[in-house]
Amino acid sequence: MRPLIEAGAVAEGEIELRRKNGERFWASYRCRALDPAHVEQGSIWVASDISERKRSELALLEAKQQLEGGLREVEQLNRQITQLGELTGFLQASSTAVEALARISEFGPRLFAGSAGRVYLRDPAGRAWSQQAVWGGTAPVSAHFSDDDCWALRRSRPYRVDRPSEALVCAHLATDGGAVHPHVCLPLTAQGKTFGVLTIEHLREQGRAEAERRYGLAVAMAEQVALAIANVQLREALLQQSIRDPLTGLYNRRYLQEVLAREIAHSRRTHASFAVLMIDVDHFKKFNDTFGHQAGDLVLQQVARTIEARFRRSDVACRFGGEEFTVLLPDTALDTAQRLANDLLENIRTLALSHGERELDRVTASLGVAIFPAHGSTPQALIEAADAALYRAKQSGRNRVVVGEGRAGGTG
Ligand code: GH3
Ligand code: MG
Ligand code: MG
Repeated sequence: MRPLIEAGAVAEGEIELRRKNGERFWASYRCRALDPAHVEQGSIWVASDISERKRSELALLEAKQQLEGGLREVEQLNRQITQLGELTGFLQASSTAVEALARISEFGPRLFAGSAGRVYLRDPAGRAWSQQAVWGGTAPVSAHFSDDDCWALRRSRPYRVDRPSEALVCAHLATDGGAVHPHVCLPLTAQGKTFGVLTIEHLREQGRAEAERRYGLAVAMAEQVALAIANVQLREALLQQSIRDPLTGLYNRRYLQEVLAREIAHSRRTHASFAVLMIDVDHFKKFNDTFGHQAGDLVLQQVARTIEARFRRSDVACRFGGEEFTVLLPDTALDTAQRLANDLLENIRTLALSHGERELDRVTASLGVAIFPAHGSTPQALIEAADAALYRAKQSGRNRVVVGEGRAGGTG
């Protein structure tokens, strides 16, 4: 009779056994069938206990899986660090805060897949925080909030929430009935002053290790973002200081020179004309003598506001020096410039001025108009032409507009 099982066949499995003391246990076995020639009937199996070997195989498999998982994490971390390095480079190269904020919106989703992020900066006007950069997410969140609405701001340190259902959630994130995801709010701080908040919400499930890694990355990102924004803001402030007059907030003479040169080049290319207005407050010395220097300063500020209000955003209003102002009106012909100049003098004439309780005398101003290219084609020639027209306005009785002499000349 041919045996059912060939000699040398091998089988492995689990078997429940009983110890002498009656205790039951499971063991792995491996057995091999003996050659039936050696036996009278059927097959004989020789079994051996391989429980130990199985256990070590299993442990080895687990270790391998862990290693592979760890390797994937390291690779992911490497990618994120590279991205953060790239973002830092772009942030350092940004010349304005707007540019830096745009880079943050671009890199946010690359650094944190499946996330929503926002950068809030302190409103220069008050205590509110307003959203300046955003990525991902559809849930409606506040674009503005106050100090009290963010735990990171209230406690001056990062606020991390892994389980929103069990934690206090910042009011600026709590949406109308919508789900709040695990998130972190990080204060943006430079030189001990907090000027912004970076908020990152993780919209998809993340394991413990990933949550830790993302938190570390968020802290590093907040440091870079804070440094970059503080730098560009400082640079912008210094630039403004260097081109603005501190008393009136108008541009200064240095900036006027720059803009005039640029405008001449532009108008040459486009064959356009532009106007330069030179304005001088009448009898201002006497005004100072009567009401004091402080009241005089106030008047200069009021005249500056009146000039700003009268002209377009594209026009450039400067304090030329003392009680003299200059306005550059791009793409403007003589008739328009003359009309605007007369309107401005009317606005100045009707200014109701007071200093504290004291009512001040009304002021008037004289104004000279020069047109490019009719009255001059260099910055200096244009300023001189406008100044000469202003001088004639003073000579002919003040409180009036006079147009430069030349091809477009005449009195207004
Ligand atoms: P005119 O009608 O001919 O222009 O007479 P004016 O008195 O305005 O001209 P003048 O050039 O004789 O005097 C200008 C005055 O402007 C003298 C100066 O004290 C004053 N002034 C210049 N800068 C400032 C300033 O920043 N604040 C104040 N309060 N006064 C200033
Ligand atoms: Mg004057
Ligand atoms: Mg003057």
